[in-house]
Amino acid sequence: MLDAGLDLERDRKASVEHLRSTSPQSWDAASLRFIREGVSVEAGGIPLKMAYGSSFPYREPAPMPMARDGAEGKPSCARGGLSNVWGASVMPFRTEDMAGWPITAQDLEPHYRAVLDLIPYSARRDGLEELFPLYSDDANALKTSRQADSLLRDLEAARSRLKEHGVRFGASRLAVDASCVYCGLCIYGCPYGYIYNSTETLDRLREHPGFTYRPGVLVQRISETGPHVEVSGVTVDRPTPFSLTVDKAFLACGVFSTARIVLASLEAFDQPVQAADNCYFLLPLLRYRNETETSREALHTLAQVFLEVLDPAVGPQTAHLQIYTYNELFREQIRNMLGFADPVLGAIASRAVLGRLLLIQGYLHSDLSPGLNVSLSRDGRLSIAVEPNRKTQPALAALRRRLWAERDAMRAMPVSPAMRVGKPGRGFHTGGTFPMRSRPRSLETDVIGRPHGFTRVHLVDSSTFPTLPATTITLSVMANAHRIGTAVT
Ligand SMILES: Cc1cc2nc3c(=O)[nH]c(=O)nc-3n(C[C@H](O)[C@H](O)[C@H](O)COP(=O)(O)OP(=O)(O)OC[C@H]3O[C@@H](n4cnc5c(N)ncnc54)[C@H](O)[C@@H]3O)c2cc1C
Ligand code: SF4
Repeated sequence: MLDAGLDLERDRKASVEHLRSTSPQSWDAASLRFIREGVSVEAGGIPLKMAYGSSFPYREPAPMPMARDGAEGKPSCARGGLSNVWGASVMPFRTEDMAGWPITAQDLEPHYRAVLDLIPYSARRDGLEELFPLYSDDANALKTSRQADSLLRDLEAARSRLKEHGVRFGASRLAVDASCVYCGLCIYGCPYGYIYNSTETLDRLREHPGFTYRPGVLVQRISETGPHVEVSGVTVDRPTPFSLTVDKAFLACGVFSTARIVLASLEAFDQPVQAADNCYFLLPLLRYRNETETSREALHTLAQVFLEVLDPAVGPQTAHLQIYTYNELFREQIRNMLGFADPVLGAIASRAVLGRLLLIQGYLHSDLSPGLNVSLSRDGRLSIAVEPNRKTQPALAALRRRLWAERDAMRAMPVSPAMRVGKPGRGFHTGGTFPMRSRPRSLETDVIGRPHGFTRVHLVDSSTFPTLPATTITLSVMANAHRIGTAVT
């Protein structure tokens, strides 16, 4: 495995190690300071998640120039990629949401099962199963917070009405180990490593005698000659060229880096490919009931509840809503809103609001979302520009109306004026630059991820997804890679 492989800084690793070796009760402000670095909630902005206070998952080791026109996507050159910062929400795709795909959710089923056996999986048997099978017999459920428990109870009481209106709900499904100690630091990185990070799988692979890991290399091109593939690029430290001849190559550099390599290899300069993206938004919900002492509760701060909305007014596909309950950034948001009045009003506002406040992080299907035009110029600049979609605003408006209509069922009101829609790419659910087709043409791939013109190179990340269902991307990226690996080896 060739990998750019940037890693967490040594001093931060030591600080995480220190936290890990002790219990949360013995952590003090000084030992936790590093972990909160770099995360700030600015009014109107969506904070970018860091890993233990470090931006290493987003760092680019060598000049990989990118021009972003209204878009925000970022590649990762880290060991473990963006799984160093992901939110670990894992839901499968439904065939009904996979229009344009040459394969179905049934084709992915054995691979969902295989992947969910490899990673920690917290999930419950609940109403989500009617549409989204669990694909596992030994999921362990994490404890939900008091705010989430009470929301789930209210949703359960209104189950038949919600179902009639196309709203399904259940506890979140997370790639998190059930050993979680509910310290609430998930938004900064888990000191105990309980949130799945793909370096865990890499470490297991490295124990295998047939596997070699070579970090510190940036792949730039691939080419096929006869029965061989030549992979070439530069080393990260001192840009020294390298090349390697292999029988087959599997490319999974994340959608932007993979596009850079494939477009350069095909010399397809200034030929735009269109990436699909899930429109990403944040929407606060205010519960009628105020839970007390939420800021003192031992809880995890990843998504707690999933709502899946199938409303024809929104669109023909599922919209995916992840609900977050209290985390300490909520208090910071109130501080920002009150500004200079916070010292006087902060405590009262917090008492009145924090026990009611929930945050929806939502995604629309890519057919309802703006896309991204991705192109590579001869001088190596990767440009991403927004391809607007006229369906997005009406879909978001219909979704707000659906949530408003269900406010009594949810016993919560959406605070629509506070909705924030991320720039395209900001939700990090992007793919489809080289869509898989039964009969691929130029700049498309076949069902085992081979770009047109290649026989021994397989793309195994989201680059081949023809459209993006809203229900989280990464579990399906893993299952699809497993499907291709199984078919090819
Ligand atoms: C804050 C955040 C939260 C998220 N939450 C969720 C979530 O809850 N659920 C979900 O489904 N998804 C989530 N995602 C998205 C998820 O992280 C990505 O879908 C997933 O990491 C993609 O995996 P990947 O292996 O395809 O690419 P990446 O994670 O980007 O990994 C790329 C790998 O390729 C290597 N690489 C890159 N370029 C080169 C090169 N030129 N040469 C050699 N090696 C290279 C890198 O070192 C890295 O190892 C989130 C993302 C972010 C940023
Ligand atoms: S609450 Fe989050 S950070 Fe704390 S142990 Fe559990 S998963 Fe890790």
